[in-house]
Amino acid sequence: MRTLFLSHPRYRDHLAPENHPEQPDRIAAIERRLEGEAFQHLIRDLARAVTDTEIQRVHPAGYVEHIRIQAPNDGLMSINGDTILSNGTYEAARLAAGAACLAVDEVMAGLVDNAFSAARPPGHHASARQAMGFCFFNHAAIAARHAQAAHGAERIAIVDFDVHHGNGTQNIFYSDETVFYASLHQAHLFPGTGEASETGIAGNILNVPLGAGADGAVVLAAMSEAVLPAVAAFRPDLLVLSAGFDAHYRDPLGDLNLVEADYATLTRSLMEVADRVCGGRIVSLLEGGYDIDALGLSAAAHVSALMGH
Ligand SMILES: [Zn+2]
Repeated sequence: MRTLFLSHPRYRDHLAPENHPEQPDRIAAIERRLEGEAFQHLIRDLARAVTDTEIQRVHPAGYVEHIRIQAPNDGLMSINGDTILSNGTYEAARLAAGAACLAVDEVMAGLVDNAFSAARPPGHHASARQAMGFCFFNHAAIAARHAQAAHGAERIAIVDFDVHHGNGTQNIFYSDETVFYASLHQAHLFPGTGEASETGIAGNILNVPLGAGADGAVVLAAMSEAVLPAVAAFRPDLLVLSAGFDAHYRDPLGDLNLVEADYATLTRSLMEVADRVCGGRIVSLLEGGYDIDALGLSAAAHVSALMGH
C-alpha cells in the first residue's frame, strides 16, 4: 500500500499554555513512533498552506481574516475559552488545512492509496464562522469540498472516531446531502451535541453516542453495525477520517477505553469498506489525542494499518 504521511515543523509554533492538553509536542510524539523499520516505505512529505480559494469553500473570507488579525505578536490570546491563539497559530492552521487538500490531491490522483495528515491545531469543532474546542479551520470539511470542487468527486463520507462529537463538521454539512458525516463519540461530553436524533436534512448525519467506559469491543461493534453499513450504502467517492485518538483509555479528556491495537482494527474495517465503494481512497486527518505516549502509539497503529500491515 502506498501511504502518504504529511506533517510540518511549523505546527510546533502554535503555542499553548503549559497545562493545556493540545500541546506542541503532540506531532513529534507521532513522528517518533513512525521512525522504525516498519514505516520505512511510508511516503513522507511536508504540508503546504491552504489557498484562499480552498479555505473559502468552507470559511467566509471575513472569518479567516478575523483569525489572522486576532493572533498576538507575543504571548497567548484566548479567542473562545481554551481555544487559544499564539503568533504561529494562523500559519499552522493554514498548513493543517492545506495538508488536508494536498492529501486529497494525491489520493484522488491515484499517486498514493491513502494518506494521514499529522497536523495541529485540530479541526472538527470549527464551524464556518466559529472557532472552538482548540479548532480554528475545519480541515475535514475543507478536504471534502476540495475533493468535490477540484477533483470531481460527488459524494464524500466523513467518519469521525474522536472521543468528542465533531459539531463543526456536522453544522457545516447538516443541510448538504452530498456529504455523509458519521460520528462515534462519548455521550454527554464536550461539546454536548451528537445525539442520535441529529440526523441532518436528508439522513446524511449519523451520530452514535457511546456511554462512558465503552471499550474497543463496543466501539468496533458500533462501527461494524451502524457506521460501516451506512457508509457503504452512501457510496462515497472518497472517505475522509477525522482521526482523533482521545478515546484511548489513558487519555485525560475522555472516558472511553480503547487500546492502541483497537485503532488498527478500526482502521482496517474502514479500509475494507473503502475498498468496496471508493477504490480504497482514504484521507485521514488527525484531530484529538492528549496523552502524548498513547497518541504516538495509537497513531502509529492507525498508520501501520493504512500501510496494509
Ligand atoms: Zn477530541
